[in-house]
Amino acid sequence: MLNFSNVNFKYKNESKLIIENLSFNANKGDFISIVGPSGCGKSTIFRLISKLETPLSGYIFIKGNNINTLNGYIGYMPQKDSLLPWKTILQNAALPLEINKKDPKKAEEYLKLFGLDNYKNKYPRDLSGGMRQRVSFIRTLLTGSEVLILDEPFSALDAITKISMQEWLLTQWSNFNKTILFITHDVEEALFLSNKIFVISEKPITKLKEICVPLPYPRNRHMLSKPEILKIKEDLINELKQRIEL
Ligand code: ADP
Repeated sequence: MLNFSNVNFKYKNESKLIIENLSFNANKGDFISIVGPSGCGKSTIFRLISKLETPLSGYIFIKGNNINTLNGYIGYMPQKDSLLPWKTILQNAALPLEINKKDPKKAEEYLKLFGLDNYKNKYPRDLSGGMRQRVSFIRTLLTGSEVLILDEPFSALDAITKISMQEWLLTQWSNFNKTILFITHDVEEALFLSNKIFVISEKPITKLKEICVPLPYPRNRHMLSKPEILKIKEDLINELKQRIEL
């Protein structure tokens, strides 16, 4: 579904590569979490996928097509909800439809589907953090993109809201049959959500270490206390601790 093929990248005016000869695949329907120390280049990978940055060399493909040849947007949900404060919830949700010159009615349908119908004429400031992230996710879905890239979307939420948003996200992922790439610092969050975890273990990034999470879906939090999951969690934390100096 998504392939990086020998991608090299550095920021303009910087001497060092951030990404060097990186290749990886995400299959259709994968829920992949990307974990790694701050500043190692996780968001840069997302900026490349969403065409905010261009590789120095190498290629990025979605469904076998070079992303440079694709019109439309990849569904990118940033860390902060980035809803526009002067637009209503409905106008915010409908933004990708407006940009793609599509019928904005679908935004109304989705708000209803997600139980946010009563808030459609309110403004972002009237909603809780969890609700704003739901609207932000609806907006990401309405891009129509099969691949959704979510950059630490729940990191600013309180612990209980975060847990309920994780469960909510898994339900949406399975209902909408999307492929998700998800950046997180939270190892438990990565284990709960993903079928695979990509660990960044070097700078520049030359490869992503792939860890499979041996748990079925639907998931519940009790599964996280299985001995094999606790072992993976401990290994991951140790690995990240070693890399903190990157
Ligand atoms: P992460 O998401 O893993 O925290 P980033 O991808 O945001 O890391 O950043 C990787 C590195 O690139 C960091 O050292 C950061 O300072 C640098 N960086 C990020 N954006 C820019 C930019 N626009 N110009 C120059 N350097 C940048």
